[in-house]
Amino acid sequence: MPDAVTMDKLVSLARRRGFVFPSSEIYGGLGSSYDYGHYGVLLKENVKARWLEAMVRERDDIVALDSSVILHPRVWEASGHVSGFTDPLVDCRHCKLRFRADHLGELECGARPSKHPGETELCDLTEPRQFNLMFQTRIGALEESGLDAYLRPETAQGIFVNFKNVAQIARRKPPFGIAQIGKAFRNEITPGNFIFRTLEFEQMEMEYFVPPAEAGQWYEYWVEQRLGWYRRYGIRDSHLRVRSHESGELSHYSSATSDIEYLFPIGWSELEGIANRGEYDLRAHTEASGTRLEWVDSASGERFVPYVIEPAAGVNRSMLAFLVDAYDEEVVAERPRTVLRLHPALAPVKVAVLPLIPRSEDMSSKARALYEELRRAVVAEYDDSGQIGRRYRRQDEIGTPYALTIDEQTLEDETVTIRDRDSLVQERISIQGARAFVLDRLAEDWKTPKSD
Ligand code: ATP
Repeated sequence: MPDAVTMDKLVSLARRRGFVFPSSEIYGGLGSSYDYGHYGVLLKENVKARWLEAMVRERDDIVALDSSVILHPRVWEASGHVSGFTDPLVDCRHCKLRFRADHLGELECGARPSKHPGETELCDLTEPRQFNLMFQTRIGALEESGLDAYLRPETAQGIFVNFKNVAQIARRKPPFGIAQIGKAFRNEITPGNFIFRTLEFEQMEMEYFVPPAEAGQWYEYWVEQRLGWYRRYGIRDSHLRVRSHESGELSHYSSATSDIEYLFPIGWSELEGIANRGEYDLRAHTEASGTRLEWVDSASGERFVPYVIEPAAGVNRSMLAFLVDAYDEEVVAERPRTVLRLHPALAPVKVAVLPLIPRSEDMSSKARALYEELRRAVVAEYDDSGQIGRRYRRQDEIGTPYALTIDEQTLEDETVTIRDRDSLVQERISIQGARAFVLDRLAEDWKTPKSD
């Protein structure tokens, strides 16, 4: 059966339930910019936490870093971004719109949206010109004496320029890695597909420094590891693939790159890139700064410039893939239901506590007490507004794996029902054991019930 999800349905759910809002909406919105509401923040935080766990907490060869958004402008000259971080753009003299010259086949003509730019007799495209994607800013109060600077377009360079600091303090011998999560900014011209491509986004990048002779094997290793991470958090195999770049497609720094792609409603698109950056960055910064960025063995005096394998993922884009993959619709007892079948480790809220009859003092106070107990352990929600069916549907739409309901029987025998989001099975469990029961369930292996 084809997936029920479309980009429109997802955008509408994300907005309705407060995951993602268009940015600056009261001023008419700002293209390719979005703001994240409560559940969006919780989901995004969970994506980042699962990445950090896999990169840093579960391993002992990778350390964390948080570098500045604004670095010395010479960093971007040395890295090649000032001269090479460009997209080829064309302008249409007729409709006055600007397009990525290499994406014309996916874009809509400004005058006739059913056609691609350049396809109608009215289209009048200029020759492609290179357009730098970095946002410029100025440091210092005075216009004349200020320093031109950039908002970082990737987090990776902050890692390379800190290589010496980290390598010395972490006392690691290659292979070892430095991981960073942080905002990046790109003056993207291609209009985004929701949060797939935005002006401002968060990256999760890890630079893995290896002896040059081992680069090939570590590159293969990281492609597999990263693929495994998406699978681990529930993405269906049928919607994941690896695509290696042809030689003409490679970035200026890369000798091999593979994209992990996801089958979004807009088609197969990049989720994450894994690149073999060789010694390009450490050499470039060594030459430009005069500081030797290399690994030196203090005992033997052996020294070499490590090669770098880089898995670079987007937080927002991963979040979009997790949402798309989780979105499901079904008919239950002749009523349609929309549900986000998110992995419990990603779900923004883990458990909801619902008094069946909110007017009942006894039920409310029992439900409150249970909620207070649960929220100390996990993100929990107390909901007493509206019909029980509507409250369940609301929790289904934000992807809450479990709902505990306090009803008449609770008042008699101290049991509550636990409803499973995916199977809709309801069981009765003791209120005393509810916390441990929920925690155990949340820790169990989970596999999406959605078919491929
Ligand atoms: P694309 O080809 O889609 O422009 P890229 O190859 O330039 O992406 P990288 O520089 O490899 O992207 O960045 C690593 C990751 O950062 C991407 O795989 C993606 O998940 C994320 N990313 C890059 N640009 C954006 C953007 N404008 N908005 C949201 N996420 C982005």
